[in-house]
Amino acid sequence: MKKHKIISSLIVSASLVFVTLLMLTSPSADLDDFKDYRFRKPVPRNIPAGKIKVTYLGVATLLIDDGETQLLTDGFVTRPSFTEVAFSEIGCDTLLVKKMIDRLKMHRLKAVFAAHSHYDHAMDAPYFAFYTKAILYGSSSTLNIGKGAKLTDAFLREYKPGKAFTIGKFTITVLHSKHTRPVGWPAKDNTGEEISKPFSQPAKLEKYTEGGAYDFLIRHGEHSLLIKASTNFLPQAFDSIKADVLFLGVALLSKQDRIFQNEFYQQTAGKLKPKLIIPIHWDNFFKPLNSQLVPYGNFVDDVRSNFDFLIRKTTSDSIQFGIMQGFESLILF
Ligand SMILES: [Zn+2]
Repeated sequence: MKKHKIISSLIVSASLVFVTLLMLTSPSADLDDFKDYRFRKPVPRNIPAGKIKVTYLGVATLLIDDGETQLLTDGFVTRPSFTEVAFSEIGCDTLLVKKMIDRLKMHRLKAVFAAHSHYDHAMDAPYFAFYTKAILYGSSSTLNIGKGAKLTDAFLREYKPGKAFTIGKFTITVLHSKHTRPVGWPAKDNTGEEISKPFSQPAKLEKYTEGGAYDFLIRHGEHSLLIKASTNFLPQAFDSIKADVLFLGVALLSKQDRIFQNEFYQQTAGKLKPKLIIPIHWDNFFKPLNSQLVPYGNFVDDVRSNFDFLIRKTTSDSIQFGIMQGFESLILF
């Protein structure tokens, strides 16, 4: 009798642990609840002259195309599983990179920009550059990841923050930024830690140190967009900048206090005065890249509250808010 009791209480405890784990790891938002914020405009096969097409590939990876020149941020597509990240060395899936280049017809790719050197931004970037003969732009840490991937100096350019330069009809300015404040797992903060020598993959997660964080202001004709991968800001950094479209990193926004959230919005949207804000870095990147990106689990973030926060703010500021799914394209302007 006693033995039965022990067994049944063990079963109850195990089920409780299972349900708790399931709750913690289940997606923190249902994108069906945000249907009104999805783009439904058909995207023409050929990009009309003077227009910019952007394609979202999860985290802070965006392919930007004006029909002549393609630019890529991060190019993170390998997305190793949680188990791989936690327990083994991680490195670029080069076959997958080649598949993506074919699938997305990235044969006019001229430049790859990594937001910082953590693996979810810089791990695959050199390989996109390598296979397309594009230039890898980055911090010295990112360039060391490039050197480890056998990119020669001719294909590497170190960031000169604040200095505008042109690629095709695009004018790009790389801006100093600040990495998201770490919370929960992985709490270790290697912000500013550099990768000081050529870096060979695969390597453990913690070897991909941050090496400085950057934002990208991209102008094309009369228009501009700003890509901010990290959920943080340098005060006054955008004081003299305007952007039509803001791709705003929202990872872990729900874990920051209300004062920070408001200041973050004020220092980004408040300064840039965009017409449209598209959130990035909301998807669970332990899952493969596909057209149904899943928001971070409850354990990591609260994506629903992040989206709700931005919807409240943008509604009151008359800014359009729109969510892009994996592989979704949009004609920006
Ligand atoms: Zn990072």
